[in-house]
Amino acid sequence: MDALPGLSLDRVQQEVKAFLHFLDQEQHKCFGIQINQDVRDCQMFAPLLSHTLNNLGDPFSGQGGHLVTFDYERELVSLVSSLLHLSSDNSWGYYNPGSTLSNMHGVHLGMRRFEEPTIIISEESHNSFEKAAVVTRCKELVKIKTDLQGRMLPDHLEEQLKALNRKNYIFAFCSGSVTKGAYDNSEELLQVISGCGIEPDDYHLHIDAALGGMVTPFLMGEPIKLDFRILEADSLSVSFHKRLGIPLPGSLFIARKSSLQNLPPSLYAEHYSSYDTTLGGSRDGLSPFITLMKLKHLGHSEMRKRTQRVIDKAAWLVDLLRQNGVSAWCNSHSPCAVLPAPSPQLAREYHLPRYSAAEGDYTHIFTMEHVSRSGLETFVEKYLLDTARAWQPAPVFSPVSAGCR
Ligand SMILES: *Cc1c(COP(=O)(O)O)cnc(C)c1O
Repeated sequence: MDALPGLSLDRVQQEVKAFLHFLDQEQHKCFGIQINQDVRDCQMFAPLLSHTLNNLGDPFSGQGGHLVTFDYERELVSLVSSLLHLSSDNSWGYYNPGSTLSNMHGVHLGMRRFEEPTIIISEESHNSFEKAAVVTRCKELVKIKTDLQGRMLPDHLEEQLKALNRKNYIFAFCSGSVTKGAYDNSEELLQVISGCGIEPDDYHLHIDAALGGMVTPFLMGEPIKLDFRILEADSLSVSFHKRLGIPLPGSLFIARKSSLQNLPPSLYAEHYSSYDTTLGGSRDGLSPFITLMKLKHLGHSEMRKRTQRVIDKAAWLVDLLRQNGVSAWCNSHSPCAVLPAPSPQLAREYHLPRYSAAEGDYTHIFTMEHVSRSGLETFVEKYLLDTARAWQPAPVFSPVSAGCR
């Protein structure tokens, strides 16, 4: 009883207020993660918090004996599939609490399709693939080197495929990489794969579009082909907290229906009247509703504008840094500026990660909606002072000086 005394409503409200105040302040300095944290417009969905929406089971085959948003979830799968060039009659998918699980489902499908496939990712790939390999007991995972921009290197892929000479593979291409917002060159990579005599029936191709999936459909002329225009693509992940902006993390796993044929049958779960095709059991039913409504509300033209705005902001930041002698850069069509890592203090203040590389440690800034130009100007001022004070480089690269300090 002592452990759970029961808080008064007043105390709870105080706590909410204090926490909210902290979040409102801190949000504007969250520069280092690819999440659009401006979700104030989602307040309109707050009345739905009066219900428990649990999308237990498969949104396509599930009957749902309770309150679900399956209709909305299916509409979202169909809408997002069509944005990514997969017709809705040929798509299946469902909502996950993040792209880690959507990537895991991609690996899981590959593992179900083939006996002992080898996972091929790049050094820039998200850690979820290594986790998926452990969970699915995949025996072999190979990382391909990337170029300085962060794209998987076709030459190294070729070298590795020739050396490995396996029967089956699971490939993961990236649309908007974690550290550099890079887009893999799918055409060159596929040429290498087919050049090595590996046929589409011998592999599962998953596209990790956690970030890029809500960027590339809104680029003028859609120059980046990391979607189902790739006929070999079997499945894809796309997150909505990364670019669209929703209050709870969420992602869709989408598969080409024809890639699901010839799989061993799924179990039927009588207690929720559904084939057990999802990785999760109970699933958030509110988020698919919010995601669908927000996407439909903004529409294509507003999404275009917003996409262009965050990409322009990254280019503007890079210009500003370069004018001040900082060797910053960004990938084209990417809302991600890459720059030399600041001191640990400044990194902490702005929630910036520190990545090690032979060229020197670096960090990145994702110029999402909640990251304002004036906030970036303030950051640059501090950054220039910070670098002028000549903070030491990371100890890993200078063990001697680290020892001397
Ligand atoms: C964020 C991210 C993921 C993982 O998504 P979560 O929603 O954090 O689980 C996977 N891949 C890429 C490229 C990402 O940016």
